[in-house]
This record gives sequence, structure tokens and C-alpha cells, in this order.
Amino acid sequence: MTEKLALELQNHFGDRLQTDVHMARYTTARVGGAVRWFAESTTAAQLAADARFLWELAVPFRILGNGSNILVSDHGWQGMMLSNQAKAVTFDLNPTQPILKAESGAALSAVVRAATERGLSGFEWAAGIPGTVGGAVYGNAGAHGEDTAQILALAEILHRVKGILSLTSAQMGYQYRSSTFKREPGQAVILTASFNLIPSTPALVKEKVEGFNLKRRSSQPVGASMGSTFKNPANDFAGRLIEAAGLKGTKVGGVEVSPVHSNFLINDGSASAQDYHQLISLVQKTVKNKFSVDLELEIEFLGEWQD
Ligand SMILES: Cc1cc2nc3c(=O)[nH]c(=O)nc-3n(C[C@H](O)[C@H](O)[C@H](O)COP(=O)(O)OP(=O)(O)OC[C@H]3O[C@@H](n4cnc5c(N)ncnc54)[C@H](O)[C@@H]3O)c2cc1C
Repeated sequence: MTEKLALELQNHFGDRLQTDVHMARYTTARVGGAVRWFAESTTAAQLAADARFLWELAVPFRILGNGSNILVSDHGWQGMMLSNQAKAVTFDLNPTQPILKAESGAALSAVVRAATERGLSGFEWAAGIPGTVGGAVYGNAGAHGEDTAQILALAEILHRVKGILSLTSAQMGYQYRSSTFKREPGQAVILTASFNLIPSTPALVKEKVEGFNLKRRSSQPVGASMGSTFKNPANDFAGRLIEAAGLKGTKVGGVEVSPVHSNFLINDGSASAQDYHQLISLVQKTVKNKFSVDLELEIEFLGEWQD
């Protein structure tokens, strides 16, 4: 790192700048090495200013939501992590089309809670997903047959080349657990998102949320993980294929294919990111050999890995 770059980063970020920050603390799988630089951005405006600054300096960076869908190498990553702490949530309570607008660092749990309190339906499916609004808009998070694409009204996005964009759901290139921006990582920052909700009552919304929570608790394991590791292939389930391949309970180092739900890889507290990488490769190879199915990753890797 040149002295000049260090000085420029220090001048822009001031006290917010940290170096060599380990990602195990910031990811739900509780693994991952150190990123070169790390800073928190506390408003959407600050997030945008930080991103513009880093693009101008050609410093590679990623936005960190709740770290529930990303695996950082044990060797770390020579870039900057902008930890998204922009969390404001507001409502436009127009009776015909209520809208919830959130900064992208808002936790999905907070958004679901706020919508429930106001008796607004549409976001219940996100209960129990430990991510942020930005992570959900980026990856088209979903559950119980519903997803982000179905309720997103408008996303405010800062694109590296195109500047500020206001995109509707139809303009996000949404596919199952994917978007244009997930297919070109690092090129855009989701700043805010507005969602179309449906007038209901707090009691009815709460009932639906509790139903989903119950379903999740009865079908998903506890313990550190990234949730579903692989996307479900067309007309099938990744978990079913992994189990049918005889991999349930398989361990590499401190990571195990969950005996409860085979698409969840659980850290027993001693796992490394490389253990995850190896178990993921083993699962993909075994399922490919047995069923000729390529299991595509839902999660993302960052940094260098050994095969
Ligand atoms: C127990 C458990 C259960 C889960 N259940 C589900 C489920 O039911 N359905 C589902 O879809 N997912 C599920 N997940 C996965 C995960 O929670 C979601 O994908 C979530 O949307 C990821 O959000 P995040 O904030 O944690 O993203 P992160 O992991 O922090 O980031 C993921 C990617 O998104 C990018 N990103 C994040 N924010 C922004 C932004 N503002 N702008 C640009 N890029 C951004 C990051 O740079 C990174 O590339 C589960 C995970 C766990 C651990």
C-alpha cells in the first residue's frame, strides 16, 4: 500500500477506518479471515459517498450486510468492507398502496416488525431471514414461495458507471435468488428500497409471521451457518439431492452437512472458511457424480481458495 493511498483513506474515513478486520465476527457462519480495510457507513448518503470515493481510488470494496450469504477466505481479502449500518425505515401510509421505504442496512427482522406493528402485509416471508434489506434486494431473497421481486417497488442504486439509478423490480433482472447486480458483483451499491405492502391488521400479519417462524424452527437447524448453501435446481431441492447422495452428517473439519436440513452446513465452533469450501466442493462433486446435477451456489465466495 502506498503512503499516499493510506493518507487518502485516512482523510476520507477518519476514525471510521479500521485495518485487518477479521470477518468471522461479522458473518453468520462465524468464519473468515481479515479484510485489508473496514469502515461502517451509517446513512445511505454516507454509503454512496464512500462507494464513490473508493471507485475513484480504484480500491476494491464490497458492501457487508449481515454477512449471512458470504464466505470470506481464511487468507482474507485485499479490499475494503463497507459495513452497512444505514438502517432508517419510513412508511408512506397511503390507504390504497402503502409503501415501506428502508435504507439498505436495515435488518429484515426490523422491517418485518415495523410492518407488523402497522398491520401491513407482504413482508411476512422475511421473518427469520438474518439478512439486511440490501442483501435481500441484491440476491432476491425469499421464502415460503414469496420473494423480494414480488414486493419491490423501487430500488435506489448507485452504479459504478451509470451513477444513481431508480429501478423497478422488473428492471432488476431478477431470477430465483439472483439479480443483475448479483451477477456482476462489486459494480453497484443498493442504497434504499421501497416495497409495496397490502393493508391488513397487526393481528393478522402477526399470525402469518408466527406461522412462518414456527415452520422455520421445525425444519431448520440451529447453529452458525449461511442458511441454504445451494440454490434448488429446477423442480427439485438441493437438500433432497444432498441427502439422497448419502451426505447427511458428512463432516470436513468443523463443518457438517446438517442432519436436520442437508442444504445447511453448520459450524461446530471450530470450522475454518476452507473447511466450508472443501465440504461445498465435496457435496457438489458427489451430487454431480450420483445424479448428474450441478448444484449452483446461493452463497458467494470472496478471496483466494485452495482446491
Ligand atoms: C439461518 C439462515 C436462514 C436463511 N434463510 C434464508 C431464506 O429463507 N431465504 C433466503 O433467501 N435467504 C436465506 N438466508 C440467506 C441470507 O440471510 C439472505 O440471502 C440475505 O438476504 C443476505 O443478506 P445479508 O445482509 O446478510 O447479505 P451479506 O451476506 O452481507 O451480503 C451478501 C452479498 O450481498 C451484497 N450486498 C449486501 N448488501 C448490499 C448493498 N446494500 N448493496 C450492494 N450489495 C450488497 C454483498 O456485498 C454480498 O455480495 C438465510 C441465512 C441464514 C444464516
